[in-house]
Amino acid sequence: MPVLDIVTVPAKVLRTKADTVKKVDDRIKQLIDNMVETMREAPGVGLAAPQVGELVRVVVLEWGDDEDEEAPKKLYAIVNPQIVKKSNETVLGIEGCLSIPKFVGEVERAETITVKGLNRNGQPIKINATGWLARIFQHEIDHLDGILFTDRATALTLLQDNENPEEIEAQAIVTSKSQPTDSSIDS
Ligand SMILES: [Zn+2]
Repeated sequence: MPVLDIVTVPAKVLRTKADTVKKVDDRIKQLIDNMVETMREAPGVGLAAPQVGELVRVVVLEWGDDEDEEAPKKLYAIVNPQIVKKSNETVLGIEGCLSIPKFVGEVERAETITVKGLNRNGQPIKINATGWLARIFQHEIDHLDGILFTDRATALTLLQDNENPEEIEAQAIVTSKSQPTDSSIDS
């Protein structure tokens, strides 16, 4: 499985609404597999198809348990994801994006959401997500509509050259136990 190039701003593809997938065929499955490989290589916790230049509604995410660092990460690949329910409660958190290198920002997101879509086999799935998983879903699904976290961020920070995203992500893991809203993710 090849690692794909990640598109960065100001590429037009990041600002274009992605098309609904009509059929989860071999091409889409291959795209999912390549996106997973690319996300892991980056490394990131989520990736949307427009970030690899494909204007189709596909996202992949990999995240563990907010409460338990030791818990294995779970991989999600969703075709045509749709948020069908959102909690009124919101939380603030620091986000980053593989397509916007060097920037992080504080974004308010719904704390809990329900996502419907299709899995890699084209079967309908429904996921209830809370905390960071819910945040990553909202960030990735925004990508499918050409929305970037910088559109929603209340404050943006440009990282210094000596702070690379990996360090930020490592920091996120350390701080997420006690203070989930103080951590940071790249997706
Ligand atoms: Zn992103």
